[in-house]
Amino acid sequence: MRILISIILTIFIGFNIAKADIKVVTTYPYIASIVKEIVKNKATVESLAEGNLDPHFIVPKPSLVVKLRNADLIIINGAGLEIGWLLPLINQASNPKINPSSSGFLDLSQFVNLIQKPETVSRSMGDVHPEGNPHFHLDPYNIPVIADVITNKLCRLDVSNCKFYESNNTDFKERWKKKLKEWNEKLSILKGKKVVGYHKLFDYFIERYNLNLIGTLEPLPGIPPNAKHTENLINIAKSQGLDYIFQDVYHSQKPAKFLAEKTGVRMIILPHDVGSIPEVKDIFGLFDEIVRRLTQ
Ligand SMILES: [Zn+2]
Repeated sequence: MRILISIILTIFIGFNIAKADIKVVTTYPYIASIVKEIVKNKATVESLAEGNLDPHFIVPKPSLVVKLRNADLIIINGAGLEIGWLLPLINQASNPKINPSSSGFLDLSQFVNLIQKPETVSRSMGDVHPEGNPHFHLDPYNIPVIADVITNKLCRLDVSNCKFYESNNTDFKERWKKKLKEWNEKLSILKGKKVVGYHKLFDYFIERYNLNLIGTLEPLPGIPPNAKHTENLINIAKSQGLDYIFQDVYHSQKPAKFLAEKTGVRMIILPHDVGSIPEVKDIFGLFDEIVRRLTQ
């Protein structure tokens, strides 16, 4: 009897191990949303950062180390976006599966074309984009590229569910394609319109939809606005014309409001990630809301 129980237990435990979900941790919620589209209920997915925060400056907390300790896979944005906060957390987690050289570490920036790549990598003068512009997920055409990369990685780590992941990815990209068509039609009115942003955050979106970025309130990415620079922007806006002021959810709105007051141009607050505002619950919602705010 004892032997029988032990055999049953062994089979049961073995079965559970075989069925155990893989644990995916992402640095930002937009990545987690794409992963969820692909894994459905076959993996647990958690984001380290919340969507309403400045993605460059996430505060490292012990609770984030706990998430990393149990992860089978970490997926990061890369291109320097996590440079100020992620590595100490990974080191503290001491989980060999997710070391930057391990198969459980995936850097999405390696698979997209980065814009604004400097000739030499430098953080001199506080530039927080030393490797080029890291906000590539705000071009909706990069989302299916990212989904493919994630699917390939999941297939390698969890072979038994590969077909399931691939089929979900195909379905996701089909729905994305339909949405792209809808967004492209609505956004066609933006062509040639002039924009000032706070940070170089929406530059991929701006390039995709042929807007014209005439300046940013930050003199350099990561350097707060100052009076002289803002005065200069006001003069450029007055002489060249300005149609939109893009403001993110996490920087002070004061400089953008001042520019709006001086130029009579509307300031539009745009979400940049899932969860940056309550309406944006997933990756589809992110672009739905950006489009709605720009075209209403
Ligand atoms: Zn940035």
